Amino acid sequence: MKDAIGREINYLRISITDRCNFRCLYCMPEKGMESKSHMDILRFEEILEFVKAVAPLGISKVRVTGGEPLVRKGVVDFIRELRAIDGIRDISMTTNGSLLSFMARDLKQAGLDRVNISLDSLKSERFHKITRWGKLSDVLCGIESALETGLIPVKINCVMVKGFNDDEIEDFVNLTMNHSIYIRFIELMPLGEKGWGQGRYISADEIKALIKEKLIPTGAPAGAGPAVYYRAPGAVGAVGFITPISRHFCDACNRVRLTADGKLKPCLESDLEIDIKTALREKKGDEHLRRLFKEALLKKPVCHHMKPEENAGHFRKMWQIGG
Ligand code: SAM
Repeated sequence: MKDAIGREINYLRISITDRCNFRCLYCMPEKGMESKSHMDILRFEEILEFVKAVAPLGISKVRVTGGEPLVRKGVVDFIRELRAIDGIRDISMTTNGSLLSFMARDLKQAGLDRVNISLDSLKSERFHKITRWGKLSDVLCGIESALETGLIPVKINCVMVKGFNDDEIEDFVNLTMNHSIYIRFIELMPLGEKGWGQGRYISADEIKALIKEKLIPTGAPAGAGPAVYYRAPGAVGAVGFITPISRHFCDACNRVRLTADGKLKPCLESDLEIDIKTALREKKGDEHLRRLFKEALLKKPVCHHMKPEENAGHFRKMWQIGG
């Protein structure tokens, strides 16, 4: 299914919860956001009904995200049912990894293909500072479990924040020497608390320039998104750069997002939302859901307009729609 400017849309990102057990500085305020009531959040059956309706339109890839997807009860069974939907060929998850060591095996057995794990620091105290509530050792165990159970390729999402973790770039690159993981440096997007991004953005080119090893361009792993990958000489894994700000990839954007409270968002940055929950609750049927989906595609913006440090105080966006 193509959008209005001919982009092939085959990828649905589903936020299954607005709750998170971390409070990352650039993503959520410490007291959290006003949590939606259970009634406001789509039930798993409703999400599955929607996916079944749109899979025939060519949606074959699904990413489960949040909030923190692993805090939602029943997520393993949800993955199993997602796997059973005709046409869904690739199921991945973005998680902070803190609960993964307990759940990796069950998730794999249920049909999850792979995980992206967010990790912004390899120093315990700093990790705790950036996540406010997180424990580094839990996430490292989660990464190990993901590798052991075959939730691969394991990709690590690392948001670079100037003056905060940019002194750890080499440490992250070193992780790829002996581990089959893909470290993806992500440019900080101006979506958090107003003013938070001021002076903290660092471009992928600047990050790359700080890496001493000579990086060799390399192919992308399975489920390749917008990252461009390189390998340090002799490395088992690879490093990637995701450049939503310095070189946006909107012309190749193949995704639509479904928020935890049942809104379709054709673009991460835009305020445009199409209500799906009402149609689901009023039992409007698959044809109607497909019509709403096509409407979202036709309204998909040509590109986003995010600029570094121009922070509009859009705190709600990332935790609500899962990055
Ligand atoms: N809780 C899960 C996790 O931690 O991966 C999924 C949700 S989280 C919002 C998804 C991704 O968005 C994470 O990799 C996070 O680092 C990224 N993210 C959040 N805010 C961001 C920002 N302002 N700029 C760049 N990436 C951001």
